[in-house]
Amino acid sequence: MSPDVIVAGAGPTGLMLAGELALGGARVVVLERLAARSGQSKALNLQPCSAEVLASRGLLDDILALAPARLPRGHFAGIPLDYSQLDTPFPYQIGIPQARVEERLAEWARSLGADIRYGTAVESFEQDETGVTVDGVRAGYLVGCDGAHSAVRKQSGVDFPGRDGRVCAVVADVTLAGAGPAEWALPAPKAGGMLTVLPLDGGVFRVLAAGPVQMAAARTDPVPAAELADALAGDGLTLGEVRWASRFTDATRQAARYRTGRVFLAGDAAHIHSPAGGQGLNLGLQDAFNLGWKLAEVIRGESGDELLDSYHAERHPVAARVLQSTRAQGILLVPDDDVTALREVFTELIDARALAERVAGLDHGHRFPGLDLTVLHDGRRHVVATADGPIEVRPDGFAAVPAYCGSRVA
Ligand SMILES: Cc1cc2nc3c(=O)[nH]c(=O)nc-3n(C[C@H](O)[C@H](O)[C@H](O)COP(=O)(O)OP(=O)(O)OC[C@H]3O[C@@H](n4cnc5c(N)ncnc54)[C@H](O)[C@@H]3O)c2cc1C
Repeated sequence: MSPDVIVAGAGPTGLMLAGELALGGARVVVLERLAARSGQSKALNLQPCSAEVLASRGLLDDILALAPARLPRGHFAGIPLDYSQLDTPFPYQIGIPQARVEERLAEWARSLGADIRYGTAVESFEQDETGVTVDGVRAGYLVGCDGAHSAVRKQSGVDFPGRDGRVCAVVADVTLAGAGPAEWALPAPKAGGMLTVLPLDGGVFRVLAAGPVQMAAARTDPVPAAELADALAGDGLTLGEVRWASRFTDATRQAARYRTGRVFLAGDAAHIHSPAGGQGLNLGLQDAFNLGWKLAEVIRGESGDELLDSYHAERHPVAARVLQSTRAQGILLVPDDDVTALREVFTELIDARALAERVAGLDHGHRFPGLDLTVLHDGRRHVVATADGPIEVRPDGFAAVPAYCGSRVA
């Protein structure tokens, strides 16, 4: 039987979307270019907003059990942000490798009936008024969750305005000869650069290094072991073995539209930015959480096509704000004495709670406070009691009546 939706890409966004669609009763096929999951992790955290998303589907306890760390704070360009006062049941960051999140999401999506096929790239598609065809497979909709270089975005002809990277840094997973840090700590940028070393499992450490040497490199330059050894030596650490290493930049771009007829973009396919503050994977999960139930409702015939336009309307501004935030962080992280002075003055002036809400992903409306999240496990709309009488809550926990978005549900 032909699927209702084809999802390109089995990263965190595609897998979350597959689960959401299957929960909503849609037939979904995920086509992933890689022959098998790589097991590598770029991201290492889940923000409070993502914890709310996962709890809404009954997945949070499993994720917490797989997480090596839980931190009661986040950061903005290394400036600590206290999460403990945030208006959320989950006032902490979950420290967890991306690969583990993907593994749990894949398991969940499959258990609901999603068909995840590895070793199949989406290279092109055709769209008409009634559906989309990918490599001979016909579906009602196609969603590009195929990452920063999205083939779906390119073939849709969607503009991707922004700029290329200016700041280059190194990420690596290594072992150390000798002891390393036992706890997860926030990045501590200095005028001479920044080195963050976080303990993962099995004696492996995540290294993030951003100093003058890394700034002078191009993104595609290989990362010599000697460069990592020098960076670690600055903190008195000795390099053991390099498991993998790569460079990344603060390239910043956002798709001009998230919907082209029956084709949608989500996650890195729709927006790229510096990983500063740890928000990219989180944004992708939340895109999927916004789009999945809408597509499922339209496929079930319970809502009209216009509901699908609200995906761009609701999610584009959220990512635009994150891009603004990561651009600002990029400047504050430049290894330079003057920038250090700027960061210190900025630290004195900021409204730390507002900034914490922004990085935590809680600044675009309080959807859940007071709501029993188990109500949302079935991925359907519900009517809940409030001080003003009953209101309808969408499957993502937002109030269906716009006037209530941002209001407390209790
Ligand atoms: C160094 C670094 C550190 C980061 N740290 C954090 C962090 O701490 N917190 C955070 O929230 N974010 C972080 N990010 C960002 C985060 O990793 C990404 O935002 C996240 O991976 C995006 O998920 P995605 O599913 O949208 O895209 P991807 O993870 O890129 O997944 C896309 C998938 O699509 C597949 N694919 C590609 N092309 C095709 C095709 N044509 N057909 C089929 N499949 C295809 C790919 O193989 C891949 O599996 C970091 C990024 C970097 C580079």
